[in-house]
Amino acid sequence: MFQWPKRGDAADGDNTAFRGVGELKGQVAVISGSTSGIGLGLARAVAARGGDVVLNGLGDPSEIERIRAEMEAANGVRVRYHGADMRKGDEVADMVAFAKHDLGRLDILVNNAGVQHVESIEKFPTDKWEQIIAINLSSAFYATRAAVPIMKAQGRGRIVNIASAHGLVASPFKSAYVAAKHGVIGLTKTVALELARENITCNAICPGFVETPIVQMQIADQARTHGISKDRVIDEVILKKQPTKRFVTTDELAGLFLYLVSDLGASANGASFSIDGGWTAE
Ligand code: NAD
Repeated sequence: MFQWPKRGDAADGDNTAFRGVGELKGQVAVISGSTSGIGLGLARAVAARGGDVVLNGLGDPSEIERIRAEMEAANGVRVRYHGADMRKGDEVADMVAFAKHDLGRLDILVNNAGVQHVESIEKFPTDKWEQIIAINLSSAFYATRAAVPIMKAQGRGRIVNIASAHGLVASPFKSAYVAAKHGVIGLTKTVALELARENITCNAICPGFVETPIVQMQIADQARTHGISKDRVIDEVILKKQPTKRFVTTDELAGLFLYLVSDLGASANGASFSIDGGWTAE
């Protein structure tokens, strides 16, 4: 019968002991789109628990460097930045290879980068469609494809895709986003099945609304379009479907994330976990 390794036992495939929830010392995480919002929150969660991190994303270079250096100094871990444009497969593959070359391994891949555009289907610009599919869906394929050989060689891996409640249900005017996020859930299931015997898991987290720049832009747009205050947009539009009537926090997402990447999460595989205040229960 399978026996859980005890704390301190050597795990198969490498010399690291059993990894409980939040025990990330010696592990390396690559997190796409981690210069702001959810990705940055997860990167901080990894660093605070002793893991090394490769940050990625757009933004002011001096601000990114400030975040990187501060995270490194505060936690005594190694934090690197790779500026891969997540639309481009070769740059994404280079980012994954960079983690292995520069930090020595790759234990955790978080496919998180994402963008949004809100428009009716008949007016939806085709370039926006292509951009959203590339950043929100294809980038997860590019990164997973590059990460799996490294994880297989190490005998363990954890892939976490940040999907959305919109990976499970739709809202009008978000055709590209909803299509991409449903695609992420399909990719998650497929990768999980392919790697189930390799000690590599792949799961999706499906957040409801979290107050990050991607949502702040939608609030501002809706306030302009409808000529109402941002507070009214939050109450009447954004949180309309979220029964708790408050934003999900990145800490709440980090709690599930830390479980999924631990050894206790080994049997959670190919699943989509809602953290949406009850939105998709309806
Ligand atoms: P955010 O705008 O704060 O973060 C998006 C990140 O992606 C940023 O770091 C940005 O620089 C990066 N990015 C965008 N285009 C990129 C590109 N071409 N190459 C590299 N990086 C790029 O938004 P967020 O809310 O933190 O979103 C993170 C993920 O969570 C997204 O996939 C989003 O769809 C998902 N999500 C967000 C919410 C929410 O309410 N905020 C809800 C469900 C799912």
